[in-house]
Amino acid sequence: VPIEQIRNFSIIAHVDHGKSTLADRLLEFTGAIKQNTGQHQVLDKLQVEKERGITVKAQSASIVYSFKGKPYILNLIDTPGHVDFSSEVSRSLSVCQGVILLVDANDGVQAQTVANFYLAFGKDLTIIPVLNKIDLKQANPERVCHQLKNLFDIEAKDVLKISAKLGIGIKEVIEQIIEKLPHPKVDRHKPFQSLLYDSWYDKYRGALSLIYVNSGSAKVGDSISSCHTKKSYEIKTLSLLRPEEHSVDRIVAGQIGLLGCNMRNIKEAVVGDTLHVTSSPVGPLPGFQPPKSMVFAGIYPANLSEHTDLRKAIEKLTLNDSAVTVDIDTSPALGQGWRLGFLGLLHLEVFTQRLEQEHGTEAIITAPSVTYLIKLKATKETVKQGTNEIFINNPAVFPEHIRIEETHEPMVLGTIITPDSYLGPIMQLCQERRGVQKQAVNIDNDRVMLQYDLPLCEIVLDFHDSLKSISSGYASFDYEDNGFQLSSLVRMNILLNNVPCEELSTIVHSSKAQLVGRQMVLKLKELIPRQMIHIAVQATVNGKVLARENIKPYRKDVTAKLYGGDVTRRMKLLAQQAAGKKKMKMVANISVPRNTFIDFLKND
Ligand code: GDP
Ligand code: MG
Repeated sequence: VPIEQIRNFSIIAHVDHGKSTLADRLLEFTGAIKQNTGQHQVLDKLQVEKERGITVKAQSASIVYSFKGKPYILNLIDTPGHVDFSSEVSRSLSVCQGVILLVDANDGVQAQTVANFYLAFGKDLTIIPVLNKIDLKQANPERVCHQLKNLFDIEAKDVLKISAKLGIGIKEVIEQIIEKLPHPKVDRHKPFQSLLYDSWYDKYRGALSLIYVNSGSAKVGDSISSCHTKKSYEIKTLSLLRPEEHSVDRIVAGQIGLLGCNMRNIKEAVVGDTLHVTSSPVGPLPGFQPPKSMVFAGIYPANLSEHTDLRKAIEKLTLNDSAVTVDIDTSPALGQGWRLGFLGLLHLEVFTQRLEQEHGTEAIITAPSVTYLIKLKATKETVKQGTNEIFINNPAVFPEHIRIEETHEPMVLGTIITPDSYLGPIMQLCQERRGVQKQAVNIDNDRVMLQYDLPLCEIVLDFHDSLKSISSGYASFDYEDNGFQLSSLVRMNILLNNVPCEELSTIVHSSKAQLVGRQMVLKLKELIPRQMIHIAVQATVNGKVLARENIKPYRKDVTAKLYGGDVTRRMKLLAQQAAGKKKMKMVANISVPRNTFIDFLKND
């Protein structure tokens, strides 16, 4: 079809506002999928996505629709709604000319609605505002229209009102996409230039690339090259996603398609790369910022014998998730493992859940950490290195305090939307988490939008859960990266009879050191089994003891509880004790079972 008859768009919405349901309805309405086949949420392919109801990887589908006697191709780019995946949202939006801003007519504007609106607005995309779930009894379209006017200056007369569930208003949505969105501005006569904006691994065909053609055209059999790696490939397969693959011989400017060219390794399909026909080289299109890892955690096999299985599983999963970074890590207590970097906590959870579900691997995940920036005092060493700045995400490598000039921590700008009755407890929570209020705006008679500067490390663990529980689930939260800020950070060491135990050290803000130290020694007192000798558990910062607990000695005789002489039971217990000893790590003559570390790291 001519360029004038192509539209590329995304649906952006807060989680649960009905994005996947609307996508299904659009596909059904245009006959891309059959109605009522129970084939719900066809774009949510991964099992985790189905369970959690979130879209993790952005997927695409091409819809064909006849309007005023002409066929149109509407390319729907599905985007993840959750903050952790905002780099994927941003990536998807760069191939669109417009978005549907979908808002629940009962819930109203929520934190992710605001974040996603600004992403689209910043890219100068046309925005079609749509209220969903108007079938709900509690739906209050007027109020939500008022919020849209207040926050985004959207006029009530421009807002569509639909029910994705009941299929009301779907035709209007499609026709507005055709009428309001501009077609892609591209030239089909120029040389082929395309943006690789997503990729995944296929067992049989190797890495597949989802491309947006910015100019020209290409056909099966053409030789193409990457601007980034300079490598060349022959195009083996081209297909449109409708949403299942539909083979084509040629793909032209303005279109989105799936390209297979025998790339063996997913690392060759670099997201953000530009592909061109080998014989007519072109410059690269503006690429993307590579996604930035925000949260790091160590991962170790639950049983040492499962090391190889875990390694294979991690390799496989990272094939389809280029946002995860992997480094080798070792711990004297936990053995050989890896340090993985994630976009956020949900990303970490999704990854480990997939590890279990898709690869049947059990793994120990250590408490998550963020990346800190440390400026060292000038020495011969720093002069030689040319910089005194180091980035660390592992407490074990935090430098001695005498070497440190300044410590900086990563910050986020957090957006919270809440009914004003919860304002008090929410402001208190933010304060406890060292937040600084930037803005408070009424978005209607009884709802408020708050913005806070917050340290990332204070929100990665349980901020979202706490917020939900103090607001009975009504407050929503989203955040964006906000750079580093000077902060007073210290490394807390845990000592067992005066010997430091690397695995247990953490980085904390100095104002919280006392509290955290107290909690840690109490927990260890519970976890470390009593032994023949007396054990002192201490939490220290810069050599100063902040908290201490004692574990009293006792004689361990596992057979003491047996009266009488059941020999086989006695032998069995002794054997168990011997086996247990093998799994110990010795710290200052104290044998600490591997499980102690696991329990300590797990429930933190
Ligand atoms: P997403 O997280 O934005 O993809 O939202 P989903 O499409 O998964 O929908 C979230 C929930 O809202 C599901 O239980 C849907 O059945 C429900 N839902 C979606 N659209 C409507 C609607 O128009 N009316 C009603 N009543 N429920 C809807
Ligand atoms: Mg969804």
